Amino acid sequence: MTSLANAGVPAGATGRTPEEAYVRFRSALVEARLLVETGVDGLYVRSGAFEDVVAGIDRRVSAAATEASGRYYFPLVVPRRLLEQTGYLASFPNLTGTVVSFEAGPAAHPAFVEAVEAGREWADRLQVTDLALCSAGCHPLYPSLTGRLESELQVEAFGQIFRHEPSIDPARMQAFRQHEVVYVGTADGALAHRDRWVGRAGELLGSLGLVVEPVVANDPFFGRAGGLLAASQRDEGLKIELTATVASAERPTAIASANCHRDHFGEAFSIALTDGTPAHSACVGFGVERIALALLSAHGLDTARWPADVREQLGL
Ligand code: ZN
Repeated sequence: MTSLANAGVPAGATGRTPEEAYVRFRSALVEARLLVETGVDGLYVRSGAFEDVVAGIDRRVSAAATEASGRYYFPLVVPRRLLEQTGYLASFPNLTGTVVSFEAGPAAHPAFVEAVEAGREWADRLQVTDLALCSAGCHPLYPSLTGRLESELQVEAFGQIFRHEPSIDPARMQAFRQHEVVYVGTADGALAHRDRWVGRAGELLGSLGLVVEPVVANDPFFGRAGGLLAASQRDEGLKIELTATVASAERPTAIASANCHRDHFGEAFSIALTDGTPAHSACVGFGVERIALALLSAHGLDTARWPADVREQLGL
């Protein structure tokens, strides 16, 4: 089995562009049958060996989330209205996905089938439903919190995410999962949650043998106003990413991030503290596929040969 680490070739070895490193690492993952290609960049079938690593990461995150009072597993799709309420459409229209289906009735069916069978475009004959693909791990949580919060709240949120950004970088998947720990409560509490989890996530990932670095970052806001939004997010230090080498050492990958939202979601979903002011929120998000890929890059593609303590921590 191909193993970058065992072959003595560090991932992202110098002399390669990041793009060359992406292609090389993706080919190695596919050759090792950890990921199976689908013909669409950023969409993969995952092997049992890969999923065993993901399950181990999830268990480690849950074990560290000692203050969380519950776990919520969100479906792949959300009410389409959620994209409006969160502001996602304004900031990331290019990353969204909505669900369309055939609603034109039996009379339109023969022409539709004819178009499909003739190899003509058929998607424009479908109608937009009231569903969209989930945009972020914590977004589906907020509608359930509308009203007065009796006390601050911490929960784990498991999201199945879609981002429309086809890429040759195996770490930039179009369909992936986020394991989040979300705080909703006071302004000070939200900042404390963000900061506590920068340290805690760094320790957790470091204990698995990853070298991670906290970096002040910004979301890829779209459009003319996007640059300003990104700059203010950076200036305020609201988003801190933990980066590690996956395919390219030259261009590290964010494998987890800790985000403070201020009162954005409290306002948008009318979540109020007992004094009537909008609640603040913060989340830490673990990109479980990216962490699995970082581990495969660091320890080699054969998980049976990973360091014993890493295997033990992940229950492998
Ligand atoms: Zn979140």
